[in-house]
Amino acid sequence: MKQTEYFGFNSITNLKDVLKKEKSKRVFLVTGKESFKSCGAEEKIISLLKGLSSLRFTEFSPNPQQEQIEKGYIEFEKFNPDIILGVGGGSAIDVAKALKEFLFERKSINIPLVAIPTTAGTGSEATHYIVYYNGKNKVSAGKPELTLPEYSICDPQFILNLPKDITASTGLDALSQAIESYWSVKSTDETKEIAKEALELIILNFENAVTTESKKSKEVMLRAANLAGKAIDITLTTACHAVAYPFTSYFGIPHGHAAALTLGSMLVYNSQVSEKDCLDKRGPDYVRKTIQEITKILGCKTAEEAKEKIEQLMVNVGMKTKLSELGLKENDLDIIVKNGFNPERVKNNPRLLTEQNLRNILKEQS
Ligand code: NAD
Repeated sequence: MKQTEYFGFNSITNLKDVLKKEKSKRVFLVTGKESFKSCGAEEKIISLLKGLSSLRFTEFSPNPQQEQIEKGYIEFEKFNPDIILGVGGGSAIDVAKALKEFLFERKSINIPLVAIPTTAGTGSEATHYIVYYNGKNKVSAGKPELTLPEYSICDPQFILNLPKDITASTGLDALSQAIESYWSVKSTDETKEIAKEALELIILNFENAVTTESKKSKEVMLRAANLAGKAIDITLTTACHAVAYPFTSYFGIPHGHAAALTLGSMLVYNSQVSEKDCLDKRGPDYVRKTIQEITKILGCKTAEEAKEKIEQLMVNVGMKTKLSELGLKENDLDIIVKNGFNPERVKNNPRLLTEQNLRNILKEQS
């Protein structure tokens, strides 16, 4: 499915044309509770909805729960919308995608979705994936022909007031997605080009986007996150994201921060791939070359140097890099090992990861 995309400051005005083109009369909005107003989206979007009937759903948490989505679905179905807008971070956009999928599965009704990100990290506006949680378990859903939003509007004005810690952790999600997509066993020349562009933009702009008021850097991060989203839509993420989910559901570490915690160590680990443990059909030489390419994009000479660079970047934006600093104790590592083995993601990693290898990586990171 081809997506229609709008980028840039004030690109939100295109929403009017989208609503006209879709002949929308009943608009269901999924938004953050407070962030919808504080990011400036409410003022802009509500005025574009004049004359239309609309209903807003906000009753979900970051890293949304399935039961919250099910409750929202009752209102959603009753309202009988003809279009759905997901305005917010990855959580709001994923709730909107899930509602669209549920409606299709339960009523065979397919309504268009407009994704309007207000964080620069997940790239969810550019993927067909849906992430939510059932208790502490992560659920992955979404279908390429159904849940890739028909429209995405990436307007950087909505990320300008994002608190520093959220800018940092969401930016780390984009960094992890770009790197993991690049080394994924499903990567292609095309996805590597996209991931490379994302990574280059992130390296140049991430720190500035967090620590300064630079509109340019924030805008570029929104674009980079979108590119990284496009890359993972094809390649999926790998081991760092697999272990990120229990860091989030058991220890409350924000998603992007959680994904970046093992990024440097996993880069070194993957650089030491051999014939015996290589999962990429293109072979260990190819994987080593790939890791060297990532290392070079990061401006480093060795994988160890690249690990340090990633961790320094995290420290520079105020993000902790050690599990002990985040309150995890040695026996907590069992929870991560037990729940961080999403088979789909781990087998996407270019080097086989055993429980023992993961435990070593986590110990090193403690
Ligand atoms: P989030 O959506 O959970 O938002 C984090 C917090 O930031 C929330 O409290 C939110 O209200 C607030 N917020 C959002 N925009 C704001 C703004 N402009 N100003 C002030 N506050 C704002 O965070 P996220 O990192 O964007 O999304 C994480 C979720 O996305 C996770 O559930 C993750 O698994 C999922 N995800 C999905 C995909 C996908 O392809 N579907 C990819 C990566 C991650």
